[in-house]
Amino acid sequence: RRSIALSFNGNIVNMGELRSSLGLPEGLSDAHALNRLLLGTLEEEGSIQEAVKLCMDQVEGAYSTVCLIDDGTLLAFRDPLGIKPLCHGCGEGIKAFSSESVGLDINGLEYCGEVSPGELLWIEEGRLHRERVRYSGRRAFCAFEFAYFARPDSLFNDRYVYEARVQFGMNLARRFEDVASRCDVVISLPETANDAAYGFHIASGLPWEMATRRHRYVTQRAFISKAEERELILARKVNILTRKIRGRRLAVVDDSIVRGDTTRSVVRRLRAAGAREIHLFITYPRIIAPCFYGIDMATYSELIGAWRTPEEIAEEIGADSVNYQPIEDYVKATGLRRDELCLGCVTRRYPTPRADEMAREMWERLQSGEEERGRIYEGWC
Ligand code: SF4
Repeated sequence: RRSIALSFNGNIVNMGELRSSLGLPEGLSDAHALNRLLLGTLEEEGSIQEAVKLCMDQVEGAYSTVCLIDDGTLLAFRDPLGIKPLCHGCGEGIKAFSSESVGLDINGLEYCGEVSPGELLWIEEGRLHRERVRYSGRRAFCAFEFAYFARPDSLFNDRYVYEARVQFGMNLARRFEDVASRCDVVISLPETANDAAYGFHIASGLPWEMATRRHRYVTQRAFISKAEERELILARKVNILTRKIRGRRLAVVDDSIVRGDTTRSVVRRLRAAGAREIHLFITYPRIIAPCFYGIDMATYSELIGAWRTPEEIAEEIGADSVNYQPIEDYVKATGLRRDELCLGCVTRRYPTPRADEMAREMWERLQSGEEERGRIYEGWC
């Protein structure tokens, strides 16, 4: 029997079908399904290329994958749309793969470029080989990486992520000039929105105050934690400098609003600190639909933006206004074309057919009064 160690970033959308076709028991992870597909081919004396091609033919979803096979071959591949990031690097006698270029930087390795969508790279006896196993004709890189997930010092498409974030802030200040002109000061929610706040400050001319400070050792992400823990995590994680807030009209720059409870909690604390007005400027466009590709926002019900207009959201969370960056401004700032990005959660149009179908059907069912029972893609057949 062959064996394999596998690590992957993403989510399989058609797990229900794969479970039936591969005979996998309930509860086994996506990584098990990928393992099973790869090992099935290798155990029948198939090549690495054939094994990866089988994955790409059968699996719908996002999967940036790195594996070590029992014969010592290291390989990496990316789904045909390149939804999640994956790059490779090298050093003295070293070949390496990383989701983000910063993973190479901090290990003293040279960034050699991205793994292309549908591409397989493998290292045999110290030599790097590469082959485009599947060509889909487009890419669909996760747009949310630019606003939230990626490190600002990572390179995507040959640009640092922070450069896009600065541009997001400039776009917001220009697009909502009338609202910005009513504010006294711009602040950000640390740390993903800091670069955007800087851009907002440059374009609006408003003073930028670092009036919220992040605790260095609290690293949990509030929006992917359990509801009851979120407020506590946020209070521990972000401290508000009351003297810089009191009596002022704030332009607050943040990266996104997912469920709204994190933002509501921040707004409440800013009010308690004496803010006179609170205007939110959100770099990521309004999230109106779930993600099927590995971000933990997998139902419509949990998303505040799926059901409310920006005005209703402002009222719901206690802000004076909520100003989302329009999709076209956002796309332009990423440096990619619209058809090179996944924008599923902000458009309800997904780059893979199963996800598109599930999102549409679930939305229609909700309109007719049906309730969601957990993550949409789990158990969907
Ligand atoms: S649906 Fe949204 S979060 Fe999910 S991969 Fe697409 S852009 Fe990223």
